[in-house]
Amino acid sequence: MSTTTGMIGNGHSAQLLAMVQVFQQLSRTTNDEEVVRTLLKCAISITKAHRVRLISHDGETMLVECEARCSQNDEVTVNHCRRPVESDALFRKVFDKVSPTCRPVLLGTRSHEREQVGVSPQTYLLENPMLCLPLLNGDGNREILCLDTQPDALPFDEALISCLNILSAQAAVKRENLRLHARIAIENKTIEEVEVALCANKKELAHMQRMSRTGSWRWCALTNMLEASSEFFRIFEIPHERRMPSAKLINLTHPDDLPLVRIALVKAIAARRVFKLEFRIVVGFGEIKYVQVEGHPQTDDAGNLQYIGVTVDVTERRNAENALQAARAELARAHRLSTMGEMAASIVHEVYQPLTGIITNAEACLRWLSKSPAEAARARDSARRVARDARRAAEVFRGLRAVASNSGITKVPVDLDDAIREVTFLLQGELDRANIRLRLQTDVAKPVLGDRTQIQQVLENLLRNSMDALLCDLGTQKSLIVSSASHDTAFAMVTVQDNGCGFGEHSAEELFDALFTTKPNGMGMGLKVCRSIVEAHGGLLQAERREQETVFRFTLPYLNGTSGE
Ligand code: ADP
Repeated sequence: MSTTTGMIGNGHSAQLLAMVQVFQQLSRTTNDEEVVRTLLKCAISITKAHRVRLISHDGETMLVECEARCSQNDEVTVNHCRRPVESDALFRKVFDKVSPTCRPVLLGTRSHEREQVGVSPQTYLLENPMLCLPLLNGDGNREILCLDTQPDALPFDEALISCLNILSAQAAVKRENLRLHARIAIENKTIEEVEVALCANKKELAHMQRMSRTGSWRWCALTNMLEASSEFFRIFEIPHERRMPSAKLINLTHPDDLPLVRIALVKAIAARRVFKLEFRIVVGFGEIKYVQVEGHPQTDDAGNLQYIGVTVDVTERRNAENALQAARAELARAHRLSTMGEMAASIVHEVYQPLTGIITNAEACLRWLSKSPAEAARARDSARRVARDARRAAEVFRGLRAVASNSGITKVPVDLDDAIREVTFLLQGELDRANIRLRLQTDVAKPVLGDRTQIQQVLENLLRNSMDALLCDLGTQKSLIVSSASHDTAFAMVTVQDNGCGFGEHSAEELFDALFTTKPNGMGMGLKVCRSIVEAHGGLLQAERREQETVFRFTLPYLNGTSGE
């Protein structure tokens, strides 16, 4: 390498030419390393420095980013080294000096010491003069260009420093441009990625809306216009429009639902309230769909009212519910039919006895009348019994009707013991003929609340069953006990017990099943009807198998809910 003597400060036109070439080269350069390399090479070529370094300082560490050296045979080598600086303290001071002023600092030459150099060369024992130029850097990192000359070199002259300043400024601008370009490229890429992600989200959202049959929308109160998602338009089966007047949708609302929808919407909008509606729409060629709509009020940037919301197609769900309801109704109808069958059977059962009585007594009456002379008194007795049995049958019908409708029981205060005595009195003849001794133990002090005829119907049924059970067991002494007593403060209890044949292996609850009978001519409805009568009174009817005995007992509520004991 040639010595710097006579080079620095001389040959300004050559320097300018070199700089113009560098400017051209810089303008073509497309990456930062190349800019730095060009800058460093050019700095060496115009100053004949033996070393040029680009040093960066990020506030903490100082690094030699790049270093150019000139060899003995004028060959310039550039090395992007990124290594720590050697004289850390010196460069820290240089940075402190350069940064605020943005002016070059020259170290180690007497002539410049006075004007520009803030750091004394003796302090840092520099071997060679050194020029440090600030490099503008948009990143916030501070950088300097540091040129080392030979010990015998002339000081950097003003023109050369100016050239270097222009050069480094030009390089800094280029680097800044490249940085900005790189940043813009990154930002563009990010925007592109965001756009791709947005597009994917939009597709996903549309897919989800499709799956859930949910359309989203936004309605502006000021313009009465609606913007909505594709699924919304699919539900309404109308072509997609970016914005459309909401009146179009009103026209698709089912005419029967329209008045209510209108009222609900007007009210919600006036009060700026959330609304939730379900109504029918008529789409396509008259197909009816069910939609659920939910809207939430908002105000736009200008303070105008708008609603955002969702519309869900619930047609499938609603149709399924309707089908389920129809199936339930059909089931209920079938149940009612079977209940009616039970009722018919029970009617036959309950009126059979009085009808038989009527026929027998009517025939007897005819016989007494056909005698000569006619036995009027006996015929009258038979006719009375006919009338009595007919009345009985009529009462049974009335009672059954009350049970069937589950209402219409005329509950009145009933003297329970008296009602029991009346029934046993009526059956006394039959009991005597069957050789059954009835024991009566009545002990209810207060009236119960109920229908006297129905209560008697229950008791009569239980007594007849006991008689049947006693008659089928011929071997034993027949015993039938009817008792009444207070069950607790609220209920009276009637018990019918016999030592008849019992109900064998059947469970007590089975006896109450409709059509359950062990009798050849039985209907199996008596106990079922009895239970429903007692339950309609608020009481309970139960059966119990005891050793040698069958016990039926039922409770009835007291008139005032207390026995008075
Ligand atoms: P039905 O008298 O027409 O058979 P019920 O419903 O009154 O219908 O009685 C059902 C069945 O309960 C009777 O067939 C009988 O087997 C049984 N049962 C009812 N009361 C008694 C009783 N006191 N002792 C034994 N079995 C009884």
